[in-house]
Amino acid sequence: MQYYSTNGKAPMADLHKAVVKGLAEDRGLYMPEVIHRLPKAFFADMPEMRFQDIAFNVASAFFGDDVDLDALQDIVYDTLSFDCPIVKVKENIYSLELFHGPTLAFKDVGARFMARLLQYFIRMEGQKEEVNVLVATSGDTGSAVANGFLGVEGIHVYVLYPKGKVSPIQECQFTTLGKNITAIEVDGVFDDCQALVKSAFMDEELNKHMKLTSANSINVARFLPQAFYYFNAVARLMLMQMSNEKGEMRNENEKMKNDGAAISHFSFLIPHLIMCVPSGNFGNICSALFGHSMGLPVKRFIAANNANDIFYKYLQTGKYEPKASVQTLANAMDVGDPSNFARIINLYSENNQLTEVATHQRITNLISGATYSDEQIKDTMRQCYAETGYILDPHGACGYQALVDGLQPGEVGIFCETAHPAKFKEKVDEILGIDVEIPERLAAFMKGKKQSVPMTKDFKDFKAYLLSVEG
Ligand SMILES: *Cc1c(COP(=O)(O)O)cnc(C)c1O
Repeated sequence: MQYYSTNGKAPMADLHKAVVKGLAEDRGLYMPEVIHRLPKAFFADMPEMRFQDIAFNVASAFFGDDVDLDALQDIVYDTLSFDCPIVKVKENIYSLELFHGPTLAFKDVGARFMARLLQYFIRMEGQKEEVNVLVATSGDTGSAVANGFLGVEGIHVYVLYPKGKVSPIQECQFTTLGKNITAIEVDGVFDDCQALVKSAFMDEELNKHMKLTSANSINVARFLPQAFYYFNAVARLMLMQMSNEKGEMRNENEKMKNDGAAISHFSFLIPHLIMCVPSGNFGNICSALFGHSMGLPVKRFIAANNANDIFYKYLQTGKYEPKASVQTLANAMDVGDPSNFARIINLYSENNQLTEVATHQRITNLISGATYSDEQIKDTMRQCYAETGYILDPHGACGYQALVDGLQPGEVGIFCETAHPAKFKEKVDEILGIDVEIPERLAAFMKGKKQSVPMTKDFKDFKAYLLSVEG
């Protein structure tokens, strides 16, 4: 498989290059040249398949040409050492719980996959030179990437994070690891961290000096694997509904007979499924949209935002106007210029073949938006807890509320619960007046000692630092 750049001015890359470079030479994002539709038989079998096997099928469609299939299977199985279950929260609304991995957020999936894929390439090449992963984080990326790569030989990870803008619990997940992980505390906001990383990749002198690669959600090895759990979620829902309806099957058969239509069970279940993704840099929803292009039976999508509503505004107006991010309760979604917007445009404009207006039309036909203030997020968390007993984290709360507000009669919605509420314990406890239990794997991080390198947001300083440590 070849990967092209969304900016259209860089040469095509193979998977290895796309993974190592992260960003194309023209600062565009890599896109797979083709998105294979998965065969009908796969969708029919899906409800009975295990998560790992569903994921291996999806992974093969993307990476099967470039990675030995046995190795790919190992990478997938090893990545998915935990489940991504769906849980019914209330009538017609399900939570896709993406927080059962090592750092309790969905980014574990992409980060673990990427670390293992990069290691595969390094081994294949017998590479001598160390690979340096640079990653900017607004909270959860850093911990997922640091833990995904922890102890992986031949790779050093630098995590850049905005000083004072990530929760103490998030911070300890990447500042206490040591080994091949270095945390860099930047005096600025997330967008400054991202700008430092982007500038480093573009800097000729630095790239001559050391081998640099990105692990942000822009990396194809991080964002594509996130499609795995959307397929699994649909499979689990189908299975649940099939068994729920076994009792009602007789009625259903009667109805079908009465309707005079032999509707298959499959099409009976699926036409009304809505997938709702709390979004910041739009990598997670982008992988769901790729899944849709592969045939994932989802009727439409909702991108749920906090007060950073750039995408929401784009849906309303057709104009994309990035601006500085504002700080919110759902801080992993505080992004003012979501990188993966370019991929969404590229996907629905068919690589810039369609006009802006036609592209916008296609996007609004499939995706709607929602935006919530901190006050609304708090209200949602309280209401959901009072009504159902389910504890939402501030990010998942945006997704849940967008379904409550946006589901049409007869539709079933799945929202991503993108992180465990204990990751935002101070906030969640205060909002709900409870004492959220901290899972053991999270408590373990909090016992470690914080180590980080202070840094300004000036690229000169960051560059000087990198040149000094890697010499
Ligand atoms: C990263 C993150 C998001 C946003 O995901 P994107 O892929 O950047 O849109 C949402 N919630 C949590 C908890 C996150 O860590």
